[in-house]
Amino acid sequence: MDRNTPPESLITRLLHADRRSTPEHGAVHKPMHPAATYAYARTADLVAVFQGAQAGYVYSRQGNPTGAALEAKITLMEGARGCAVFSTGMAAIAAVLLTLLKAGDHVVTSRYLFGNTHSLFNTLAGLGIGVSFVDTAEAAPVAAALQPNTRLVFTETIANPGTQVADLAAIGRLCAERGLLYVVDNTMTTPALFQPRSVQAGLVVHSLTKGIAGHGHALGGAVVDTGLFDWARYPNIAESYRKGDAANWGLQQVRKKGLRDMGATLRAEDAHRIATGAETLALRVAATNANALALAQWLEQQPQVARVHYPGLASHPQHARAQALFGGQFGALLSFELQPGLDVLAVLDRLRVVILSSHLSDTRTLAIPVAQTIFWEMGAAKRAEMGVTDGMVRLSVGIEALADLQADFARALAG
Ligand SMILES: *Cc1c(COP(=O)(O)O)cnc(C)c1O
Repeated sequence: MDRNTPPESLITRLLHADRRSTPEHGAVHKPMHPAATYAYARTADLVAVFQGAQAGYVYSRQGNPTGAALEAKITLMEGARGCAVFSTGMAAIAAVLLTLLKAGDHVVTSRYLFGNTHSLFNTLAGLGIGVSFVDTAEAAPVAAALQPNTRLVFTETIANPGTQVADLAAIGRLCAERGLLYVVDNTMTTPALFQPRSVQAGLVVHSLTKGIAGHGHALGGAVVDTGLFDWARYPNIAESYRKGDAANWGLQQVRKKGLRDMGATLRAEDAHRIATGAETLALRVAATNANALALAQWLEQQPQVARVHYPGLASHPQHARAQALFGGQFGALLSFELQPGLDVLAVLDRLRVVILSSHLSDTRTLAIPVAQTIFWEMGAAKRAEMGVTDGMVRLSVGIEALADLQADFARALAG
């Protein structure tokens, strides 16, 4: 590039990434490759690909060109070193935890985790891995929970549904000081708001199903290696992967054991849909985040609403931190609590535009009563401990016209 030309912005690079690396017919998208297997004319080439001496594809479970094109885009978005994509966000998180931890290890994570991730950590506890659930909105409880056998710290950026914002920078400093692997689930913020690399995360995980795909039409997950963690110091890398550049060891083990052995491969069709969705991420995030802020401010004024949780509100306990970390946007997720005595199910039944659904970060606005659904399985005592009240509603705000959303809530709250 001419040295007088400023570097291209992320959105431009994303939009033109496929076209620039796929000259066939001038196609603006990578072709979709649903093939299960790849054939070679010479046995020596097949052997070389198997042995890692030559780049190529063998059997689609462990990777295919459509997935690789998406991996390249996510690597670009996260300013990272590499990425492996999976069939769902949970598959990506499970791959990290099950391939990098062993019985006798210990991990520290948030007590406000996404419910299914919380449940997965409980599975780990049953496999002989110690798990400490602490409030990651502060770094001190994380530091206090560390043990000599602690291998990693895992947190989300913005918690669901309470919208607590983790002390991402302080926890990153702590992990760097102690040589610990720092894993950040960036699903709720996406690279449009935040790159965990900026707070020294070693790995980033994503549910691509949410903001990155954006249209509720594909499931997917990703594990991203930022390149900041020194894998040579990590004790759980298998001998067979301790070869070549140590910078590749971690993601290689996650890919080989988590994808090849465990098999939660992303379908080529879905990789293609997610890659197309990712092209408009910045536009959708700007629209959903502006709607969410306006709706949060409006809901805070309504007499039927007792409390609104949204990092963009001055009343939010981590508002200043969110402002500093996320570049002036605060996400599409908010929750609110109705005044005691109001029937949350009846209020939600009066919505006409907003959809009753458990998904997140869609183009459409989605609402769900929290205690009765996503937090039902854990029981009342645990809900109380997590601050989930019976009148709590979680909202994932979409790109509809703000006036339509406000009118819908005005009608629903008025009864
Ligand atoms: C949805 C979600 C996941 C799980 O992703 P799936 O694609 O649904 O498996 C993980 N973490 C967070 C923060 C999520 O919101």
